[in-house]
Amino acid sequence: MGKKSFFRQPNVSEIFDGKKRIDAERKGDLVALINSCMPSFAIYIDFPILPKHYNRAKHFLKYGNEAMASNLVYMPPRQAIAEALHYANPPFASFAVRSKVDNTTVTRTLLDTAMQGMKLYAYSVNNAPIDVKGPYRKPADIAEKGADFVVSVPSEEMKGDRHTVRFSNVPLYDNYQKKRMWTDIGAICDCDFSRWWITSRYAKEKLFCQHAVAAYFAIAFKAFKEGYATPSQSVPFPMFSEEAAEFWNKMRKHVVANKGKHKMPLNSAERSLLLGEYIKIHGVKEALYHGGKKAADFSW
Ligand SMILES: [Zn+2]
Repeated sequence: MGKKSFFRQPNVSEIFDGKKRIDAERKGDLVALINSCMPSFAIYIDFPILPKHYNRAKHFLKYGNEAMASNLVYMPPRQAIAEALHYANPPFASFAVRSKVDNTTVTRTLLDTAMQGMKLYAYSVNNAPIDVKGPYRKPADIAEKGADFVVSVPSEEMKGDRHTVRFSNVPLYDNYQKKRMWTDIGAICDCDFSRWWITSRYAKEKLFCQHAVAAYFAIAFKAFKEGYATPSQSVPFPMFSEEAAEFWNKMRKHVVANKGKHKMPLNSAERSLLLGEYIKIHGVKEALYHGGKKAADFSW
């Protein structure tokens, strides 16, 4: 099934079409080369981007290094995420946080998925609204355990139905629980993302798919409108800046890599790895900072 044009990955001939080809020479310069790529150029990479021992993209996304958040309860999520990314060992592909509620469950977000979710949210704001039902539970229970929501998110597929994401433990009040709860937010989506990407390297593991990322932004927006100020300050995954989103768009639209038998656009593992390097090179401030402009208004 094809993707809606807004989400479709251009193929190799579309990427090269009418553009001047630049051959990448060294892995160390890739981020700078891609970041400075002008609209009339396309970059060709003739060497492996993933580390040698991860010959398959799926293995790198599942078992590569993670940016793991610190266990300090009082650190606000935004700072915990920024520090985790700052101190992570490259190459890494995902952000992870261990629950401060049960001290066991680890929730992971692939960096490429965080970006895809932002793009999906931007699409929903401008085209097909995300429908948020909730918060369920009584205020006293919400203060203690967080709120539940049921969210309907548009699909990226041309003929696809919407996806339903069920959220639990969303912090809505500014209290002690909020400081722990963001590490334990649950999102169960009806797509098959988790089936592919769960690693079983943790006793209990949760994953955010791009629908859950988009849905969380819609919950935060609705809750803010209804007078709960905190969900937007409890975003449990990295939110990228406009500059980082531009870099990601260039990776999708201006880069082709030699994958042995075939030339291919970059895959999610390669994009996650390079987003991690982008964060290292440009710093978390530039990679994550939002200077007032909303993700819905970025040029996706
Ligand atoms: Zn999903």
